[in-house]
Amino acid sequence: MADLRAVDHHMDGLRVLIASTPVGALGSGIGGGVELTLHNLVYGLGLRGHHVEVVAPADSLHVGERVHQIDGALQVSAQGLCREASTELPAGSVLAAMWSHIGSLQHETDVIINLAYDWLPYHLTQFLHVPVLHLVSMGSLSDAMDQVITEVERLRPGRLAVHSAAQAATFPDPSIFRVVGNGIVAERYDVQLTVPADAPLGFVGRISPEKGLEDVAELSARTGHRVLVWGILQDEVYWQRVQADNPQAILEYQGFLPTDDLQAQLGACAALVMTPKWVEAFGNVAIEAMAVGVPVIAYGRGGPAEIVDDGVTGFVVPADDIDALIAAVARVGEIDRAACRQRVDNEYSSGAMADRVLAWIDDVLAAPVRV
Ligand code: UDP
Repeated sequence: MADLRAVDHHMDGLRVLIASTPVGALGSGIGGGVELTLHNLVYGLGLRGHHVEVVAPADSLHVGERVHQIDGALQVSAQGLCREASTELPAGSVLAAMWSHIGSLQHETDVIINLAYDWLPYHLTQFLHVPVLHLVSMGSLSDAMDQVITEVERLRPGRLAVHSAAQAATFPDPSIFRVVGNGIVAERYDVQLTVPADAPLGFVGRISPEKGLEDVAELSARTGHRVLVWGILQDEVYWQRVQADNPQAILEYQGFLPTDDLQAQLGACAALVMTPKWVEAFGNVAIEAMAVGVPVIAYGRGGPAEIVDDGVTGFVVPADDIDALIAAVARVGEIDRAACRQRVDNEYSSGAMADRVLAWIDDVLAAPVRV
Protein backbone atom coordinates (compact mmCIF):
# COMPACT_ATOMS: atom_id res chain seq x y z
CA MET A 1 0.00 0.00 0.00
CA ALA A 2 1.25 3.44 -0.85
CA ASP A 3 1.46 5.99 1.94
CA LEU A 4 0.64 9.59 1.27
CA ARG A 5 2.99 12.17 2.64
CA ALA A 6 2.08 15.80 3.02
CA VAL A 7 4.22 18.02 0.83
CA ASP A 8 4.85 21.69 1.50
CA HIS A 9 3.24 23.54 -1.35
CA HIS A 10 4.24 27.15 -1.64
CA MET A 11 4.80 28.34 -5.16
CA ASP A 12 5.74 31.85 -4.05
CA GLY A 13 9.42 32.25 -3.39
CA LEU A 14 10.48 28.66 -3.86
CA ARG A 15 14.06 27.79 -2.96
CA VAL A 16 15.34 26.07 -6.07
CA LEU A 17 18.68 24.31 -6.35
CA ILE A 18 19.94 23.60 -9.86
CA ALA A 19 22.54 20.87 -10.40
CA SER A 20 24.78 21.65 -13.35
CA THR A 21 26.58 19.17 -15.56
CA PRO A 22 29.75 17.62 -14.09
CA VAL A 23 31.57 17.60 -17.47
CA GLY A 24 32.94 21.13 -17.12
CA ALA A 25 32.78 24.45 -15.31
CA LEU A 26 29.99 26.85 -16.29
CA GLY A 27 31.39 29.18 -18.93
CA SER A 28 33.87 26.63 -20.33
CA GLY A 29 31.54 25.61 -23.16
CA ILE A 30 32.20 21.92 -22.48
CA GLY A 31 28.67 21.55 -21.17
CA GLY A 32 27.26 22.65 -24.54
CA GLY A 33 23.64 23.76 -24.51
CA VAL A 34 23.21 22.77 -20.86
CA GLU A 35 25.17 25.87 -19.81
CA LEU A 36 22.79 28.20 -21.62
CA THR A 37 19.77 26.24 -20.39
CA LEU A 38 21.01 26.69 -16.83
CA HIS A 39 21.60 30.43 -17.21
CA ASN A 40 18.16 30.89 -18.66
CA LEU A 41 16.44 28.85 -15.95
CA VAL A 42 18.20 30.76 -13.19
CA TYR A 43 17.25 34.06 -14.76
CA GLY A 44 13.66 33.11 -15.57
CA LEU A 45 12.89 31.57 -12.15
CA GLY A 46 14.48 34.63 -10.51
CA LEU A 47 12.27 36.86 -12.64
CA ARG A 48 9.24 35.01 -11.26
CA GLY A 49 10.36 35.70 -7.68
CA HIS A 50 12.07 32.44 -6.76
CA HIS A 51 15.41 32.02 -4.99
CA VAL A 52 17.81 30.06 -7.15
CA GLU A 53 21.19 28.59 -6.27
CA VAL A 54 23.43 26.44 -8.44
CA VAL A 55 25.81 23.58 -7.71
CA ALA A 56 28.55 23.33 -10.34
CA PRO A 57 32.19 22.27 -10.85
CA ALA A 58 34.82 24.67 -9.46
CA ASP A 59 35.79 27.73 -11.57
CA SER A 60 32.24 28.17 -12.82
CA LEU A 61 31.00 31.62 -13.78
CA HIS A 62 28.78 33.30 -11.24
CA VAL A 63 25.04 33.03 -11.89
CA GLY A 64 21.96 33.33 -9.68
CA GLU A 65 22.04 34.07 -5.96
CA ARG A 66 24.93 31.73 -5.35
CA VAL A 67 27.04 29.14 -7.14
CA HIS A 68 28.33 26.37 -4.92
CA GLN A 69 31.72 25.64 -6.50
CA ILE A 70 32.69 22.00 -6.10
CA ASP A 71 36.19 20.58 -6.59
CA GLY A 72 36.81 17.21 -8.15
CA ALA A 73 37.60 15.22 -11.26
CA LEU A 74 35.33 16.07 -14.19
CA GLN A 75 33.00 13.54 -15.76
CA VAL A 76 33.60 12.48 -19.38
CA SER A 77 30.88 13.72 -21.79
CA ALA A 78 28.24 11.13 -22.63
CA GLN A 79 27.86 12.00 -26.33
CA GLY A 80 30.39 9.45 -27.52
CA LEU A 81 29.04 6.54 -25.46
CA CYS A 82 27.99 3.26 -27.01
CA ARG A 83 24.73 1.65 -25.90
CA GLU A 84 26.44 -0.96 -23.74
CA ALA A 85 28.75 1.55 -22.00
CA SER A 86 29.14 1.13 -18.25
CA THR A 87 28.64 4.00 -15.87
CA GLU A 88 32.05 5.29 -14.81
CA LEU A 89 33.15 7.66 -12.11
CA PRO A 90 36.78 8.79 -11.76
CA ALA A 91 38.55 8.84 -8.39
CA GLY A 92 37.69 12.10 -6.64
CA SER A 93 34.59 12.49 -8.83
CA VAL A 94 33.12 15.99 -8.96
CA LEU A 95 29.73 14.44 -9.74
CA ALA A 96 29.76 12.47 -6.50
CA ALA A 97 30.98 15.52 -4.56
CA MET A 98 28.26 17.72 -6.09
CA TRP A 99 25.54 15.33 -4.98
CA SER A 100 26.99 14.93 -1.49
CA HIS A 101 26.83 18.70 -1.27
CA ILE A 102 23.28 18.79 -2.63
CA GLY A 103 22.31 16.23 -0.01
CA SER A 104 23.62 18.54 2.69
CA LEU A 105 21.58 21.50 1.36
CA GLN A 106 18.23 19.69 1.41
CA HIS A 107 17.01 21.34 4.62
CA GLU A 108 17.11 24.75 2.91
CA THR A 109 15.73 23.65 -0.48
CA ASP A 110 12.19 23.12 -1.83
CA VAL A 111 13.03 21.58 -5.16
CA ILE A 112 16.13 20.36 -7.01
CA ILE A 113 16.41 20.54 -10.80
CA ASN A 114 19.03 18.23 -12.24
CA LEU A 115 20.54 19.11 -15.63
CA ALA A 116 23.22 16.39 -15.63
CA TYR A 117 22.81 13.47 -18.01
CA ASP A 118 24.44 11.06 -15.57
CA TRP A 119 23.37 7.86 -13.85
CA LEU A 120 24.13 8.90 -10.27
CA PRO A 121 21.63 11.76 -9.77
CA TYR A 122 18.83 9.68 -11.27
CA HIS A 123 19.62 6.80 -8.94
CA LEU A 124 19.83 9.11 -5.91
CA THR A 125 16.36 10.58 -6.55
CA GLN A 126 14.64 7.91 -4.47
CA PHE A 127 16.84 8.60 -1.42
CA LEU A 128 16.49 12.39 -1.25
CA HIS A 129 13.71 14.01 0.81
CA VAL A 130 13.43 17.01 -1.49
CA PRO A 131 11.89 16.31 -4.92
CA VAL A 132 14.47 16.05 -7.69
CA LEU A 133 13.22 16.97 -11.17
CA HIS A 134 15.32 15.85 -14.11
CA LEU A 135 15.52 17.90 -17.30
CA VAL A 136 17.08 15.40 -19.68
CA SER A 137 19.45 17.19 -22.04
CA MET A 138 20.12 14.52 -24.68
CA GLY A 139 18.33 11.71 -26.47
CA SER A 140 18.70 8.07 -25.45
CA LEU A 141 22.38 7.04 -25.62
CA SER A 142 22.98 4.07 -23.34
CA ASP A 143 21.05 1.19 -21.82
CA ALA A 144 22.25 2.06 -18.32
CA MET A 145 20.82 5.58 -18.59
CA ASP A 146 17.56 4.36 -20.15
CA GLN A 147 17.16 1.93 -17.26
CA VAL A 148 17.77 4.41 -14.48
CA ILE A 149 15.49 6.97 -16.15
CA THR A 150 12.71 4.37 -16.38
CA GLU A 151 13.29 3.53 -12.72
CA VAL A 152 12.84 7.18 -11.68
CA GLU A 153 9.47 7.23 -13.43
CA ARG A 154 8.42 4.04 -11.64
CA LEU A 155 9.48 5.26 -8.18
CA ARG A 156 8.77 8.99 -8.58
CA PRO A 157 6.35 9.55 -11.47
CA GLY A 158 6.24 12.95 -13.15
CA ARG A 159 9.84 13.95 -12.43
CA LEU A 160 11.14 13.68 -16.00
CA ALA A 161 11.14 16.33 -18.73
CA VAL A 162 12.76 16.74 -22.12
CA HIS A 163 13.21 19.62 -24.53
CA SER A 164 11.41 18.18 -27.56
CA ALA A 165 9.02 15.41 -28.61
CA ALA A 166 11.70 14.07 -30.96
CA GLN A 167 14.07 13.73 -28.02
CA ALA A 168 11.43 11.85 -26.00
CA ALA A 169 10.86 9.52 -28.96
CA THR A 170 14.46 8.23 -28.74
CA PHE A 171 13.67 6.58 -25.37
CA PRO A 172 11.90 3.21 -24.91
CA ASP A 173 8.77 4.91 -23.49
CA PRO A 174 8.35 8.50 -24.73
CA SER A 175 5.18 8.96 -22.67
CA ILE A 176 7.10 9.23 -19.39
CA PHE A 177 8.45 12.68 -20.30
CA ARG A 178 6.94 16.11 -20.14
CA VAL A 179 8.07 18.32 -23.05
CA VAL A 180 9.13 21.75 -21.79
CA GLY A 181 11.07 23.16 -24.76
CA ASN A 182 13.71 25.66 -23.75
CA GLY A 183 14.33 29.39 -23.56
CA ILE A 184 16.95 32.12 -23.61
CA VAL A 185 17.39 35.49 -21.99
CA ALA A 186 16.00 37.26 -25.07
CA GLU A 187 16.92 40.69 -23.66
CA ARG A 188 20.58 39.83 -24.20
CA TYR A 189 20.09 39.43 -27.96
CA ASP A 190 19.94 42.40 -30.36
CA VAL A 191 17.85 41.77 -33.44
CA GLN A 192 19.43 42.73 -36.80
CA LEU A 193 16.56 43.18 -39.23
CA THR A 194 18.57 43.67 -42.41
CA VAL A 195 21.80 42.20 -43.75
CA PRO A 196 23.69 42.81 -47.01
CA ALA A 197 22.95 40.57 -50.00
CA ASP A 198 26.30 38.84 -49.65
CA ALA A 199 25.93 38.15 -45.90
CA PRO A 200 27.56 34.84 -44.86
CA LEU A 201 25.81 31.78 -43.48
CA GLY A 202 26.38 30.78 -39.87
CA PHE A 203 27.10 27.44 -38.16
CA VAL A 204 27.13 27.31 -34.36
CA GLY A 205 27.93 24.18 -32.41
CA ARG A 206 30.58 21.98 -30.92
CA ILE A 207 32.85 20.88 -33.75
CA SER A 208 32.13 17.21 -33.43
CA PRO A 209 30.72 14.60 -35.86
CA GLU A 210 27.17 14.57 -34.41
CA LYS A 211 26.76 18.20 -35.49
CA GLY A 212 27.24 17.37 -39.20
CA LEU A 213 29.52 20.23 -40.21
CA GLU A 214 30.64 18.21 -43.25
CA ASP A 215 27.28 18.80 -44.94
CA VAL A 216 27.62 22.55 -44.46
CA ALA A 217 31.13 22.32 -45.92
CA GLU A 218 29.72 20.58 -48.98
CA LEU A 219 27.02 23.24 -49.29
CA SER A 220 29.70 25.91 -49.18
CA ALA A 221 31.91 24.13 -51.69
CA ARG A 222 29.03 23.73 -54.15
CA THR A 223 27.53 27.22 -53.84
CA GLY A 224 30.48 29.44 -52.91
CA HIS A 225 28.68 30.67 -49.76
CA ARG A 226 30.95 31.81 -46.95
CA VAL A 227 30.18 30.09 -43.65
CA LEU A 228 31.20 31.53 -40.29
CA VAL A 229 31.72 28.77 -37.71
CA TRP A 230 31.46 29.32 -33.95
CA GLY A 231 31.88 26.66 -31.30
CA ILE A 232 34.22 24.71 -29.16
CA LEU A 233 36.73 22.66 -31.18
CA GLN A 234 35.93 19.36 -29.56
CA ASP A 235 37.28 17.04 -32.26
CA GLU A 236 40.34 18.46 -34.02
CA VAL A 237 40.80 15.40 -36.27
CA TYR A 238 37.22 15.68 -37.50
CA TRP A 239 37.65 19.41 -38.17
CA GLN A 240 40.79 18.77 -40.27
CA ARG A 241 39.00 16.02 -42.20
CA VAL A 242 35.96 18.17 -42.99
CA GLN A 243 38.25 20.82 -44.47
CA ALA A 244 40.43 18.33 -46.35
CA ASP A 245 37.35 16.63 -47.87
CA ASN A 246 35.94 19.96 -49.05
CA PRO A 247 38.88 22.05 -50.26
CA GLN A 248 36.57 24.51 -52.06
CA ALA A 249 34.53 25.22 -48.92
CA ILE A 250 34.89 28.65 -47.34
CA LEU A 251 34.64 27.86 -43.63
CA GLU A 252 35.89 30.66 -41.38
CA TYR A 253 36.39 29.54 -37.79
CA GLN A 254 35.54 32.30 -35.32
CA GLY A 255 36.34 30.51 -32.06
CA PHE A 256 34.09 29.98 -29.04
CA LEU A 257 32.61 33.29 -27.93
CA PRO A 258 30.72 34.41 -24.83
CA THR A 259 26.99 34.89 -25.54
CA ASP A 260 27.14 38.69 -25.79
CA ASP A 261 29.77 38.57 -28.53
CA LEU A 262 28.27 35.56 -30.28
CA GLN A 263 24.85 37.16 -30.60
CA ALA A 264 26.31 40.40 -32.00
CA GLN A 265 28.24 38.56 -34.71
CA LEU A 266 25.61 35.94 -35.49
CA GLY A 267 23.04 38.66 -36.25
CA ALA A 268 25.01 39.61 -39.36
CA CYS A 269 24.36 36.20 -40.97
CA ALA A 270 21.82 35.51 -43.72
CA ALA A 271 20.82 32.22 -42.07
CA LEU A 272 21.92 29.64 -39.52
CA VAL A 273 22.36 26.18 -40.96
CA MET A 274 21.74 23.13 -38.72
CA THR A 275 22.61 19.73 -40.15
CA PRO A 276 22.75 17.40 -37.14
CA LYS A 277 23.56 13.73 -37.61
CA TRP A 278 22.12 12.81 -34.21
CA VAL A 279 18.70 13.57 -32.78
CA GLU A 280 19.47 17.03 -31.44
CA ALA A 281 17.54 17.25 -28.16
CA PHE A 282 16.63 20.86 -28.76
CA GLY A 283 19.27 23.02 -30.44
CA ASN A 284 19.64 26.15 -28.36
CA VAL A 285 21.47 27.80 -31.21
CA ALA A 286 18.25 27.78 -33.26
CA ILE A 287 16.46 30.08 -30.82
CA GLU A 288 19.59 32.19 -30.34
CA ALA A 289 19.72 32.76 -34.10
CA MET A 290 16.01 33.59 -34.28
CA ALA A 291 16.45 36.04 -31.38
CA VAL A 292 18.89 38.08 -33.46
CA GLY A 293 16.60 37.87 -36.50
CA VAL A 294 18.45 35.08 -38.29
CA PRO A 295 16.29 32.47 -40.05
CA VAL A 296 17.17 28.82 -39.40
CA ILE A 297 17.55 26.20 -42.10
CA ALA A 298 17.49 22.81 -40.44
CA TYR A 299 17.36 19.15 -41.25
CA GLY A 300 14.09 17.50 -40.28
CA ARG A 301 15.73 15.63 -37.43
CA GLY A 302 15.33 16.29 -33.71
CA GLY A 303 14.54 19.50 -31.88
CA PRO A 304 15.38 22.06 -34.59
CA ALA A 305 12.63 20.64 -36.80
CA GLU A 306 10.12 21.38 -34.00
CA ILE A 307 11.45 24.88 -33.42
CA VAL A 308 11.54 26.06 -37.03
CA ASP A 309 8.17 27.03 -38.47
CA ASP A 310 8.73 26.08 -42.10
CA GLY A 311 8.39 29.12 -44.35
CA VAL A 312 7.94 31.51 -41.38
CA THR A 313 11.09 31.38 -39.23
CA GLY A 314 13.21 29.40 -41.69
CA PHE A 315 13.01 26.12 -43.57
CA VAL A 316 12.98 22.46 -42.57
CA VAL A 317 14.43 20.15 -45.23
CA PRO A 318 14.69 16.34 -45.35
CA ALA A 319 17.61 15.17 -43.20
CA ASP A 320 20.89 14.55 -45.05
CA ASP A 321 19.52 16.07 -48.29
CA ILE A 322 22.17 18.59 -49.29
CA ASP A 323 20.35 19.53 -52.54
CA ALA A 324 17.30 20.51 -50.47
CA LEU A 325 19.55 22.46 -48.10
CA ILE A 326 20.99 24.42 -51.01
CA ALA A 327 17.51 25.12 -52.41
CA ALA A 328 16.36 26.41 -48.99
CA VAL A 329 19.38 28.71 -48.67
CA ALA A 330 18.44 30.25 -52.02
CA ARG A 331 14.97 31.10 -50.61
CA VAL A 332 16.11 32.63 -47.34
CA GLY A 333 15.19 36.17 -48.48
CA GLU A 334 11.51 35.14 -48.20
CA ILE A 335 11.76 34.98 -44.42
CA ASP A 336 10.81 38.03 -42.34
CA ARG A 337 13.60 38.46 -39.79
CA ALA A 338 11.28 40.30 -37.39
CA ALA A 339 9.01 37.22 -37.31
CA CYS A 340 11.98 35.13 -36.12
CA ARG A 341 12.53 37.42 -33.15
CA GLN A 342 8.81 37.60 -32.44
CA ARG A 343 8.64 33.83 -32.13
CA VAL A 344 11.37 33.86 -29.50
CA ASP A 345 9.64 36.59 -27.49
CA ASN A 346 6.40 34.61 -27.56
CA GLU A 347 7.61 31.06 -26.94
CA TYR A 348 11.26 30.94 -25.96
CA SER A 349 11.80 33.85 -23.57
CA SER A 350 13.06 33.19 -20.04
CA GLY A 351 9.62 33.99 -18.68
CA ALA A 352 7.87 31.58 -21.06
CA MET A 353 10.31 28.79 -20.18
CA ALA A 354 10.13 29.53 -16.45
CA ASP A 355 6.34 29.29 -16.59
CA ARG A 356 6.51 25.86 -18.23
CA VAL A 357 9.02 24.67 -15.61
CA LEU A 358 6.96 26.16 -12.76
CA ALA A 359 3.87 24.32 -14.00
CA TRP A 360 5.94 21.13 -13.86
CA ILE A 361 7.23 21.92 -10.35
CA ASP A 362 3.69 22.73 -9.28
CA ASP A 363 2.47 19.33 -10.47
CA VAL A 364 5.34 17.53 -8.73
CA LEU A 365 4.85 19.36 -5.42
CA ALA A 366 1.12 18.71 -5.55
CA ALA A 367 1.53 15.00 -6.26
CA PRO A 368 1.59 12.54 -3.38
CA VAL A 369 4.90 10.74 -2.91
CA ARG A 370 4.79 6.95 -2.69
CA VAL A 371 7.04 5.71 0.07
N1 UDP B 1 28.01 28.61 -27.87
C1 UDP B 1 28.63 29.71 -27.32
N2 UDP B 1 29.63 30.33 -28.00
C2 UDP B 1 30.04 29.91 -29.23
C3 UDP B 1 29.39 28.79 -29.79
C4 UDP B 1 28.38 28.15 -29.09
O1 UDP B 1 28.29 30.14 -26.21
O2 UDP B 1 30.93 30.53 -29.80
C5 UDP B 1 26.94 27.94 -27.12
C6 UDP B 1 25.57 28.23 -27.68
O3 UDP B 1 25.11 29.45 -27.19
C7 UDP B 1 24.73 27.07 -27.21
C8 UDP B 1 25.74 25.96 -27.00
O4 UDP B 1 27.04 26.53 -27.19
O5 UDP B 1 24.10 27.35 -26.01
C9 UDP B 1 25.48 24.80 -27.92
O6 UDP B 1 24.26 24.24 -27.52
P1 UDP B 1 23.32 23.36 -28.43
O7 UDP B 1 22.05 23.12 -27.68
O8 UDP B 1 23.16 23.98 -29.78
O9 UDP B 1 24.13 22.00 -28.63
P2 UDP B 1 24.92 20.98 -27.64
O10 UDP B 1 26.34 21.46 -27.60
O11 UDP B 1 24.24 21.04 -26.31
O12 UDP B 1 24.79 19.65 -28.32
